[in-house]
Amino acid sequence: MRTAVVVIGAGQSGLAMSWWLAQRSIDHVVLERGEIANTWRTERWDSLRLLTPNWLSRLPGYGYEGDDPDGFRTLPQTVAFLRRYAEVVAAPLRTHTTVTAVRRSAADYEVVTDRGVWRCDAVVIATGAFNRPSVPAVASAIPHSIATLSATQYRNPEQLEPGGVLVVGASASGAQIADEIQRSGRSVTLAVGEHVRVPRTYRGRDILWWMDAAGILDERYDQVDDIIRARNIASFQLAGYPDGRTIDLNSLTAIGVKLVGRLAGVNGEGKAQFSGSLRNVCALADLKMTRLLNSIDEWAAQSGLDRQAAQPQRYAATAVEESPPLLLDLTRGRIKTIVWATGFTPDYSWLHVPVLDAKGNVRHDGGVVSEAPGLYLLGTPFLRRRKSSLIDGVGDDARELSAHLASYLHRRPLQSRFSLQPLDV
Ligand SMILES: Cc1cc2nc3c(=O)[nH]c(=O)nc-3n(C[C@H](O)[C@H](O)[C@H](O)COP(=O)(O)OP(=O)(O)OC[C@H]3O[C@@H](n4cnc5c(N)ncnc54)[C@H](O)[C@@H]3O)c2cc1C
Repeated sequence: MRTAVVVIGAGQSGLAMSWWLAQRSIDHVVLERGEIANTWRTERWDSLRLLTPNWLSRLPGYGYEGDDPDGFRTLPQTVAFLRRYAEVVAAPLRTHTTVTAVRRSAADYEVVTDRGVWRCDAVVIATGAFNRPSVPAVASAIPHSIATLSATQYRNPEQLEPGGVLVVGASASGAQIADEIQRSGRSVTLAVGEHVRVPRTYRGRDILWWMDAAGILDERYDQVDDIIRARNIASFQLAGYPDGRTIDLNSLTAIGVKLVGRLAGVNGEGKAQFSGSLRNVCALADLKMTRLLNSIDEWAAQSGLDRQAAQPQRYAATAVEESPPLLLDLTRGRIKTIVWATGFTPDYSWLHVPVLDAKGNVRHDGGVVSEAPGLYLLGTPFLRRRKSSLIDGVGDDARELSAHLASYLHRRPLQSRFSLQPLDV
């Protein structure tokens, strides 16, 4: 089978790219191992609501059409939204088709699937950035009596044995999961490392409204000082609850969640050891939140929005006990389950083109994989903009990358005529 471009993955990234390729009349196919929005269907917990408001889902050629723009989609609503988008795009989809290998030859790319082989001039990797749970090495030292699961395996509190739960990681997933489990009647201890604290609403508007309006979400990858750090920053400690409440460490301690520092190890006696940095990481998160709010206030003043918006607010510092516990005995039966909410890594095990760095990430320049002309990446954190991995962010990146891709295809016949050396395989 032959086409100009193979797009791998039918989440928002693959579909947005399909839209732009169609606009540019470029022949392509979108290969998906499951169904449309497979990740949302199979790898998220039941109660998850998007942390982005409904209006913040402007995809190329499509956007929110309902009457609750400030609400937060449930999981089934998110799946329905992306299914509808696939219809609007009229994406040339092949679902239940798993890509098992991508290779590059002198002439083109070979995309091997469990349903045949495609040859094409270009490949767009839109397989998602959050494929595998990133579980720390300390996991191997956890006593066998304790059940462990990752945020992608967690579905709801009923799935857990009765008893205490240690949630490791306090970004969006960890904070939301800790909140839900504590409210189910189990006692939760939350291990907190570096995190990003933001209020849900600020000066009468959603925090993401401010970040969008002030251009913070549009900040470009080639304008930040340290793009490697920017690409690895944890997700906002944010949730899309129907009542619009803020989730942060103060709201969690208020319902009884116990805070401890980052999980550093498990000693020979089966005691979990926590870093003594809890107060510092919380103070840092508070400081960074205040800096963000200061920059929003400055922008509001400059843009004449000061009088329309509510007064600037500042929030109580994160309350941390004087000497948080540094040890927790895992052998005493107090903790029955550990949930790893420690982030994710992408899975490129099928990519047989030598473009991966030591951490297994694709080396790229804003999604253009220069070491393998014709290969593109889409949907990863801060790919081209701060918003790149959000539903709302992928459209701009897809537009720019599809323009680069179109020009690559246009130049190709000339290029291959002069290509005397076999390319890497
Ligand atoms: C817990 C969580 C909550 C999030 N909440 C929000 C939110 O509220 N708002 C927001 O804007 N963003 C949110 N995001 C970020 C982002 O929008 C999602 O991760 C989204 O799923 C990314 O879309 P994508 O298309 O880039 O990747 P995915 O949705 O992961 O799509 C990739 C697709 O590729 C397919 N695939 C993978 N490998 C292969 C293969 N070898 N062959 C064929 N197909 C393959 C997968 O089945 C999948 O369907 C959240 C992320 C997480 C992890």
